[in-house]
Amino acid sequence: MARNFDVVVIGAGPGGYIAAIRAAQLGLSVACIDDWKTADGKPAPGGTCTNVGCIPSKALLQSSENYEHVAHAYGEHGIRVKELTLDLAQMLKRKDKVVRQNNDGILYLFKKNKVTFFHGRGSFSGGDANGYQIAVSGKSEEALTARHVIVATGSSPRALPGADFDGKLVLDNEGALAIPEVPKRLGVIGAGVIGLEMGSVWRRLGSEVRILEALPAFLGAADEQVAKEAAKVFAKQGLAIELGVKISKVTVKKSVTVDYADSAGKAQSATFDRLIVAIGRVPNTVGLNAEAVGLGLDERGFVAVDQDCRTNVPNVWAVGDVVRGPMLAHKAEEEGVAVAQRIAGQHGHVDFNTVPWVIYTSPEIAWVGKTEQQLKADGVEIRAGSFPFMANGRARALGDTTGFVKVIADAHTDRILGVHVIGPMASELISEAVVAMEFGASAEDIAIICHAHPSLSEAMKEAALAVDNRALNF
Ligand SMILES: Cc1cc2nc3c(=O)[nH]c(=O)nc-3n(C[C@H](O)[C@H](O)[C@H](O)COP(=O)(O)OP(=O)(O)OC[C@H]3O[C@@H](n4cnc5c(N)ncnc54)[C@H](O)[C@@H]3O)c2cc1C
Repeated sequence: MARNFDVVVIGAGPGGYIAAIRAAQLGLSVACIDDWKTADGKPAPGGTCTNVGCIPSKALLQSSENYEHVAHAYGEHGIRVKELTLDLAQMLKRKDKVVRQNNDGILYLFKKNKVTFFHGRGSFSGGDANGYQIAVSGKSEEALTARHVIVATGSSPRALPGADFDGKLVLDNEGALAIPEVPKRLGVIGAGVIGLEMGSVWRRLGSEVRILEALPAFLGAADEQVAKEAAKVFAKQGLAIELGVKISKVTVKKSVTVDYADSAGKAQSATFDRLIVAIGRVPNTVGLNAEAVGLGLDERGFVAVDQDCRTNVPNVWAVGDVVRGPMLAHKAEEEGVAVAQRIAGQHGHVDFNTVPWVIYTSPEIAWVGKTEQQLKADGVEIRAGSFPFMANGRARALGDTTGFVKVIADAHTDRILGVHVIGPMASELISEAVVAMEFGASAEDIAIICHAHPSLSEAMKEAALAVDNRALNF
């Protein structure tokens, strides 16, 4: 006998588990199905984000940054450490512990909110707007029915043609977060967020890192001024980044050799002890049996949805990485909440114009809204103001004065159209800009708000003042 729910969510990544919790908070009976498991077969909800994405990468970024600080930055503070050693096994163990805490936290939240969790793979068996049948195949087989289904199955790493992931020498993000010894020569294909973050981790721990990127421009999605500053700082740190390359062959023996043409078209070859491939991700739809209900995919294989995450099938919704839009955990969460509310007859709010982007390198890079180049291309007249962390007292006290804040406003109305930060704690600083833009603030609004002193946030105020050419400390 099938168990009946108001809502069945397939996938317990940030899109799915948040949707399940919100739907349960709204009084609906909810089941959530997820197949991720720990090495010993236990449920590990949280998806890519918790298990092999946001959380473990940030744990390793923090540990490796601490290590680099002790090695190179603490001396200036008068802290001398003799015989610094790296215990990589402990570093990886700590990362795994942080992941487990998050897995357990989600299981606790399911219990607290009375979400019924099924560990296994979910697939459509049939149904229509009056109710769908979902099969769960895991340790045991279950049959569920639900009036609404939310597909939140996420994404998987894209492999480089001719270089399958082997978990040893050619690594995806999961392998990149678990290399058992620091590789002497590490190759990274792709200078996007994941490539830069993973490259930074292993460079700090001692690898010689070379990043090969097919696109001719570095960080093409970021503001050009920020991308330029980032390229300069990363080069100084020793992260070798080659742009405009065309890979012709990857040969895996005891090491990995990548043959490629450089930006001038000259044949090059590089040999690495490990190769991380971070060239994008593909949506997870295989095994869903989408055909059983006629669920439509778009031309790139994503579940096709409208602005409100409705699919072509009534009462079947889809959120997160498996649908269009940025592959970001917070975007998936916002969509999950909005869909749960729509199912419950409420309003759902997601503002794609104010989704913040963050790269957790050092310096961190974060932005919201449009870049100067996009606005100019759109013919918008703008005024921009920048303020360097070099002139910020808190940054000097921290010993981290790289980068700047840049505020871009409409030249006529002063409304903020984009904010770009490269520097310490950019990931935290960007929130003020997100709030400001969400409330339709002007640069003047931020400029006249009292910011704590000394704090990094004063750089945001000063950049807003600089829009009107009246920065006080620069
Ligand atoms: C290395 C790395 C670092 C990242 N860092 C950040 C970051 O700092 N900030 C950020 O915002 N984003 C980051 N991301 C992106 C972020 O992880 C994703 O955008 C986010 O996880 C998407 O959430 P989701 O719920 O859509 O899917 P996922 O997190 O992929 O979860 C989908 C879940 O569904 C399960 N599933 C799939 N099919 C089925 C099925 N048929 N039945 C049952 N279960 C199924 C999957 O196993 C998985 O558990 C990072 C990604 C990577 C790879």
